[in-house]
Amino acid sequence: MTEIPKCDFHIHTKYLGCANETMEIPAIVQECKRLGVTALGITDHLNSLDKLDLHLLIKKDIQSLAPEIDVYFGVELNFTAADGSFAFSPEVKEQYGFQFAIGGIHGTYLDTYDLKTLVDIQHRHHLITCRDPLVDVLVHPYWFGKGEFEKNGWPWFDSMRAVPEAYARELGQVARETGTAIEINASANLENANYSNRYVKEYVAYLSIIAEEGAGFALGSDAHDIGRLSTIHTAWDVATQLNLTADRIWQPGCKPMVGHEKSGKEQHSSNQCMDHDSDTAAARGG
Ligand SMILES: [Zn+2]
Ligand SMILES: [Zn+2]
Repeated sequence: MTEIPKCDFHIHTKYLGCANETMEIPAIVQECKRLGVTALGITDHLNSLDKLDLHLLIKKDIQSLAPEIDVYFGVELNFTAADGSFAFSPEVKEQYGFQFAIGGIHGTYLDTYDLKTLVDIQHRHHLITCRDPLVDVLVHPYWFGKGEFEKNGWPWFDSMRAVPEAYARELGQVARETGTAIEINASANLENANYSNRYVKEYVAYLSIIAEEGAGFALGSDAHDIGRLSTIHTAWDVATQLNLTADRIWQPGCKPMVGHEKSGKEQHSSNQCMDHDSDTAAARGG
């Protein structure tokens, strides 16, 4: 069996105020190298367009490096409302030089608690995300912020058995058809203290159904603290456990912004990635 690529394409920084002070670009790259990562992507949140200029600070720090591992400049998108859109466009992608985008749903969008409605809303947004040609990776399916549940006094989402198998299959099929990778997220789903070991087992079983439908997968730590980058090993372990071959692991379809071959002196236009659905080579790491 071929080894899975040792990548981490979901990492936050201090620049947007989301991750903590330990998450500066040089320290992230150094720690990733120590952990055996060969390619990484910085993906801070873009919840509204007024935050765009903060991403340029990330890009500048990436471009000032000459690392021995490949570093990409990405972005994580969130819905601006239920059934809404992402604060993103081909123009923003081009103008700011984002090399790829990951995205997904980050809330329940529920007024009153109902488990079936909760799952249905998530599933619907997963499919919307996959069908968006600007999104390369669907992030952390069925991750929830526990605070939202506690604040409302709702029962915590503690079992993946609430998700019908048909939803997993449909997501796997749509992901395959659109060339969108499904994320195996270490910090949010696999190594999240809010979830039990049983839940994680159920979660891996859920991923295995998606795998059966032929979808590709992306690997991400979703680290917000330098000490959490090591959780990427769990994502790699799960990919191995799912018997995913290297060609099933998503990587951006373009050269890194800086990396082991290039010094980062290229025009940014040549580092632009193609739409994921216009070239399946992206999913093969071309
Ligand atoms: Zn997220
Ligand atoms: Zn994230």
